Amino acid sequence: MDAEQLRQYLEFYQDLGVKSLYRRTAPALAPPVTESAPVPAPTPMQLPPLAPSDDSLLKIIEDMGDCRRCRLHEGRNKIVFGVGDEKAPLVFVGEGPGADEDVQGLPFVGRAGQLLTQMIEGTAKKEGIELKRDNVYICNVVKCRPPGNRTPEADEMETCGQFLYRQLSVIRPKAICALGGTAARAVTGQKEGVTKMRGKWFKWREIPVMVTYHPSYLLRPYNEAAKREAWEDLKKILHFVYD
Ligand code: URA
Repeated sequence: MDAEQLRQYLEFYQDLGVKSLYRRTAPALAPPVTESAPVPAPTPMQLPPLAPSDDSLLKIIEDMGDCRRCRLHEGRNKIVFGVGDEKAPLVFVGEGPGADEDVQGLPFVGRAGQLLTQMIEGTAKKEGIELKRDNVYICNVVKCRPPGNRTPEADEMETCGQFLYRQLSVIRPKAICALGGTAARAVTGQKEGVTKMRGKWFKWREIPVMVTYHPSYLLRPYNEAAKREAWEDLKKILHFVYD
């Protein structure tokens, strides 16, 4: 493994939220080396590839299969992989499927999803940008519904993160919009709350990331100020991508 590959591996694990890597020492299987015996050459560390070189969304779906890699599979009805244009210049990332999404196998189709559609299409129209929901790509950090819509746990996000990583790597959009604190922290690796991060640009492997509020939060009453801010955030990202 050369230095560039090692750098990519370390970045990959960092993107998944892994902050420390420990090097395991070789098991003492070989007899102790005497002074006269030749010193065996170290065996190179074999790590699985980050993603196949010919990766595609279809290949990721195939690799995911009937996923049982984490406990979230136990309560799911359908895996919610993602939807939209594989060549989209803009990707929205939410937290995880809710009840409606779990039934239909599609992201953002419930009440929050309807608001997201209105936000994308309505803001674009007002700004003179021709854009429909189908023209962007929408997915989540975790692909199975967390029970009772709880926040996904760190190990669940870490396990499922490999698929989000591959989705974003295949699409390579011009920008990513992280919806809500969980998606924002998962994509940017920052620890801040959404109120501090929203409206600002971050990076995911050189791709600009805009953070904004989650549509479910905007559906709650008395959030008029947050709604206005979310519209501002969306305007910024739409102009950045489509101007
Ligand atoms: N909330 C999310 O974060 N994702 C969905 O797909 C639906 C609701």
